[in-house]
Amino acid sequence: MNQSKPRLVIMGAAESGVGAAILGSLRGWDVFVSDAGRIKEQFRKDLEQYQIPFEEMGHTPEKILNAQCVVKSPGIPEKAEMVKAVRKAGIEVCSEIEFGYRYKGDSRIIAITGSNGKSTTTKLMYAIMLADGRDAALVGNIGYSFARKIAEQPAAWYVMEISSFQLDDIHQFRPDVAILLNITPDHLDRYNYDFNNYVASKFRVTMNQTSNDVLVINKDDQAINNYLTTHFTNAKTIQFTMEDNTVNNEGGNIRDEQMHLNYEGERFDMSIHDLSLKGKHNQYNCMAAGISSMVVRVRKEKLREVFSGFEGLEHRLEFVAKVRGVTFINDSKATNLNSVWYALECMDKPVVLIMGGQDKGNDYSEILNLVKEKVKAIICLGKDNTAIHAAFDSAVPNVIDTNNAHDAVLAAYAFADKGDVVLLSPACASFDLFNNFEDRGHQFKEAVRNL
Ligand code: ADP
Repeated sequence: MNQSKPRLVIMGAAESGVGAAILGSLRGWDVFVSDAGRIKEQFRKDLEQYQIPFEEMGHTPEKILNAQCVVKSPGIPEKAEMVKAVRKAGIEVCSEIEFGYRYKGDSRIIAITGSNGKSTTTKLMYAIMLADGRDAALVGNIGYSFARKIAEQPAAWYVMEISSFQLDDIHQFRPDVAILLNITPDHLDRYNYDFNNYVASKFRVTMNQTSNDVLVINKDDQAINNYLTTHFTNAKTIQFTMEDNTVNNEGGNIRDEQMHLNYEGERFDMSIHDLSLKGKHNQYNCMAAGISSMVVRVRKEKLREVFSGFEGLEHRLEFVAKVRGVTFINDSKATNLNSVWYALECMDKPVVLIMGGQDKGNDYSEILNLVKEKVKAIICLGKDNTAIHAAFDSAVPNVIDTNNAHDAVLAAYAFADKGDVVLLSPACASFDLFNNFEDRGHQFKEAVRNL
């Protein structure tokens, strides 16, 4: 231990933790990294390269409780024993984005959060910034951590995807532009099954914003509106909407199949048919990124260029193949009901729906009407499918169980007629049967290709 330097302990050695460790070690902290599990090879190499001491497969209290600051990985829950001990000792706990924020200099941040659409909107926003020639970095939940980029490759603009977990331990973090896409139930298991806690956590994105900053929000989102009736933000608030087509003032709206964006006297109009990203949910994402682009003065022709050419992301309503007239779509990233709702909403053919996995507290009645209208069979793909049976057995003629991607695809194909769609849109996390949502999506695609 180095007595002359302040001690920074990082709990959790994945991308965000290792990023914070690298930044800390370059900025004069005595850094120690501790992970309760096995550290992945790539991250171990990073730590070795920067000569940062670490431990794995357990936390040693004496090496942690002497810290001035603990950066906790967003994946570690509050109920973990070591986190409780750190809190009890009164040590400052901050998230990686908070730690990075202290060293960001005069760079600017566009932060994107919400229950659904974060990755898509972040990538879209980043593509727009690059097209406009900005020195921008894509950071956060997607790709490299904010702290690592600041340490190794600083940029003038950070386009950042943030989850509610990362917002839980911010203190001064203040984005220049914050986008709050939507708030629907997700991760309730981490918020004591209290939706209000989750909403409050998302709103932390604006808590330090001033009147010089901008908050871009979805006017059609009930949870956002409810929260703002009793809470205040200092930021300049700009809204986007599909439901209120009278708005001609600042913000974004869709009227007569045209997307309109207005900001400080500037206008941008584009037909929704010219947007490369399809589906209502993506029109929301485009409005959010579009308004933010106008706030930071992106050239309109660059915005139009990206909107018409941007390719969607893997595992998000991704077309896989057409097999004897049956279309297969991979929406493995749909890990909550709201995203499944939007997936079903944009289906115009009969659907065989593959769903299930690790349930995070779903109320399936939210999609019951759409399921009744569009779904002819449900193939459950999870270890425990009781909740899905309880919700849909009486509404859908066939609800059957499978426990691997291969069987699920075979079963779905057997129920599908020519012209139908087989949609993997699980509404659940994947960890009961797969490593992660990517693994689930890849196994699904592989099984489809083997048909
Ligand atoms: P996130 O990073 O928030 O999980 P993604 O862009 O990865 O968001 O998309 C996750 C899932 O949500 C996908 O199934 C996608 O089709 C769907 N989705 C994308 N944008 C939205 C939105 N604005 N509202 C609802 N669902 C969305």
